Amino acid sequence: MSTPTLARTCTELPRVVGADLRVPLVTGETITYANLDLAASAPALEDVAAHITTLLPYYSSVHRGAGYASQVSTAVLESARAAVGAFVGARSDDVVVFTRNTTDALNLLAGCVPHSGQVLCLDIEHHANLLPWRRRAHRVVRAAATVEQTLAELDSALRSTPTALLAITGASNVTGEVLPVDRIVAIAHAAGARVVVDAAQLAPHRCIDLAATGVDYLALSGHKLYAPYGAGALIGRRDWLDAAPAYLAGGGAVQEVTRDGVEWAPAPHRHEAGTPNVLGAAALAQACRTLAPVLAEAALEHERALLERLRTGLAAIPGVETLRIWADSTDQVAVQSFTVADRPAGYVAAYLSAEHGIGVRDGRFCAHPLLATLNPDSGEAVRVSIGVGTTAEHIDRLIDALTTLVTRGASWTYAPIDGRWAPTPDPRPIDPLGIGALGLPVGPACGPAGH
Ligand code: PLP
Repeated sequence: MSTPTLARTCTELPRVVGADLRVPLVTGETITYANLDLAASAPALEDVAAHITTLLPYYSSVHRGAGYASQVSTAVLESARAAVGAFVGARSDDVVVFTRNTTDALNLLAGCVPHSGQVLCLDIEHHANLLPWRRRAHRVVRAAATVEQTLAELDSALRSTPTALLAITGASNVTGEVLPVDRIVAIAHAAGARVVVDAAQLAPHRCIDLAATGVDYLALSGHKLYAPYGAGALIGRRDWLDAAPAYLAGGGAVQEVTRDGVEWAPAPHRHEAGTPNVLGAAALAQACRTLAPVLAEAALEHERALLERLRTGLAAIPGVETLRIWADSTDQVAVQSFTVADRPAGYVAAYLSAEHGIGVRDGRFCAHPLLATLNPDSGEAVRVSIGVGTTAEHIDRLIDALTTLVTRGASWTYAPIDGRWAPTPDPRPIDPLGIGALGLPVGPACGPAGH
């Protein structure tokens, strides 16, 4: 595929949809929402939403229709492929397969690793980069106390047993720490292994260059890249993808079907059976086009300044401990987890939401083995994540709220309800859109009779 260049710098950060969203507090007031949970899912960029609105009138079937709108939709899908490839510096012969998300992309790749090949990964990974490998021959290396020792462990594991693929995170979804990908690629390639980078957290924060780093495969999610329209991607080398069984069997993935046989299409179509998510792919591509010019400078400076503000603020609060995997890591994307002494993570998160209109994530972040290591007491933490829509006021509000919590305590009461901490009572309306409680349809047909 061709990789049009996106190299253009820009000093203005793109705006996100919902930047002025007002949310209710338990006191009855409303406040501008401080969304500090972008690592889970980021809001749409305004121009991504506008792009989709512009495309909608042309939305039609792809690859099969002779109609004008079908041809436009097909062109949109295929140009989205090129834009996503360019965003990650894909080589000219790399393939971009549209998937649902990173989990889907890594599961797809797990089915493409040649049969006898082992997969190696670290124990710090998100479940999406742990569990797909468990379905095949694999080994898990324990992360050491330093990056240097961890690289040495990987080197020795790769040399001791033939390995087809090293699966590694680009940035930890728990601590934000970034591994030196080019050094890891050198170690893996020297041992004859390929490398897949789980870029779910890296891609929203850093420029990625597959061609320059030698990374063989990369997985990412649109909903973490400010394009929450249900698409992700697996990008990488063609040979494994062309040789593997189709990810899903069905229309669109084939060249010819007879009564008894099938000739599968090459990648990417081989792994995209069924009607593709054209608008999701278009949204992801538009986010890539918009973010590419700002990631290297404006967004990086913005996030670094806010992360520094956050880390300085957290360090000054008694009883707050930040989590970190390696003593010598030198780079961190704007993701930071922490614990508060004597307060369950879920309690802290519920308090921040109910009394301060701040959204954070709490729990184990789909990285249970890592949390068990970083916080053996409860295995849980609170996570703050920062991106292009985050402001200094959001960070300051969080620091003030946490300081109040540890010095004076909460103003409301909280209790675990159905396994999650919640304000008791919680007077906030749960249906601001008027679509029915919990999003269920309103009416007599809803729910079991009598309930
Ligand atoms: N990998 C990392 C590092 C993540 O943080 C996440 C999601 O939080 C995933 C993979 C899975 O992403 P998705 O849920 O979009 O498949």
